[in-house]
Amino acid sequence: MKEVVKAKEGEVFDIELEADILEANEKLAAENKKLLRKHGVQAIDIMGAIGSGKTSLIEKLVQKLKGKYRMAAFKGDLTTTIDAELIARHGVEVVPINTRKECHLDANLVKKALQRLDLHNLHLLFIENVGNLICPAEFPLGSEKRVVVISVTEGPYMVVKHPFIFMDADVVVINKVDLAQPMGVDVRKLEADVKRINPYARVAVTNCRSGEGVGEVVEALGL
Ligand code: MG
Repeated sequence: MKEVVKAKEGEVFDIELEADILEANEKLAAENKKLLRKHGVQAIDIMGAIGSGKTSLIEKLVQKLKGKYRMAAFKGDLTTTIDAELIARHGVEVVPINTRKECHLDANLVKKALQRLDLHNLHLLFIENVGNLICPAEFPLGSEKRVVVISVTEGPYMVVKHPFIFMDADVVVINKVDLAQPMGVDVRKLEADVKRINPYARVAVTNCRSGEGVGEVVEALGL
């Protein structure tokens, strides 16, 4: 695992120097995208609430795709490297990013983390955001595709309550399908909620602990 990229106290002001923080972020995200494309690296955002299964999904994707692509991951968290270590067990390079108090990654932190990787030797980069269904939606990072992971344990209204993050999603993963019945959650209803907000999103239903449905995610991502 690589050294942690740590946000400095008040670092967000680096971006706030410009009048419009979102616009500044978008500019940096475009630079990140350009750099990644130049090296032929496809970056994929993995967003979702705390405990939805983002890390488990990345672990399963890495295991499944190991023979096909050279991969790396960024893992955004406030202060820990727990998830980063879980992903690194599978033999991929991981850069942990600690945001301190921020509820999302931004393009500035991703830009710094990109400097820690040998992009030349990479095909795929998974960027796991801080667990949150609200803030990450507004901060593009420079990735090609955005995945949102929700789980049935979050209840039946997760999608309708957080529409914005689904609008931009390429793939929506409905995880912990094995618990749908005990939780009294109708997976088809969740899927219909996603499609109503974003008819273009591909939906995959998974149990990321067992690996069920992960093949659908791979297919939906065109990998
Ligand atoms: Mg995680």
